Amino acid sequence: MDIQSLLERSMQDHDHLCPRQILGVRIGMAGMKALGFSEPPQNKRLLIISETDGCFVDGVIAATGCTVGHRTLRVEDYGKVAVTFVDTKTGQAVRVAPRLDIRERAVAFVPEEPRHYFAQMQAYQTMPDEEMLTTQDVRLHMPMEQIISRPGMRVNCDICGEEIMNEREVNRNGLTICRSCFGDGYYYFHIGMSFKHPAPANQCAG
Ligand SMILES: [Zn+2]
Ligand SMILES: [Zn+2]
Repeated sequence: MDIQSLLERSMQDHDHLCPRQILGVRIGMAGMKALGFSEPPQNKRLLIISETDGCFVDGVIAATGCTVGHRTLRVEDYGKVAVTFVDTKTGQAVRVAPRLDIRERAVAFVPEEPRHYFAQMQAYQTMPDEEMLTTQDVRLHMPMEQIISRPGMRVNCDICGEEIMNEREVNRNGLTICRSCFGDGYYYFHIGMSFKHPAPANQCAG
């Protein structure tokens, strides 16, 4: 894998190249290398969890081939530039993040470039991994089987009636409930002049 062709791939959906995409490509390459892959493995063996969205993830996708559509990429939005790479065959997981002082290091790496943005553009393409990134072994909170689930798993919510795939339901008091109805949702319904939570969690107890 050479970085230039990966950057071109990242730029394809993007119309620009920026330091974050380059960082995404580098982190994608470093994470695969840490798990012993020289190129993206087949059969959805690699699962990655990105801690932010945006330009950065496009770089990660270009390097790893993982996508939301293939269910090999998940975004847990912590607003952080970092990715955890999981070998779903062995369970090994590593988290790769930029070093805390990566910006200062990038500027120092290209002393002839006074503009920080362009110094980062250059440095992120050429700095050695260990100068710019940290890699930690981690263990996921949730078993992988639970994160990935199985094809064909679907039930209907006992409250709103909508279908829930991939075992994302909550079971309480004999009811099968979607996360929104359980009170763990991200929206309110607009009803008349006010907004209402899809269904208060206490309604589930009845
Ligand atoms: Zn960008
Ligand atoms: Zn529901």
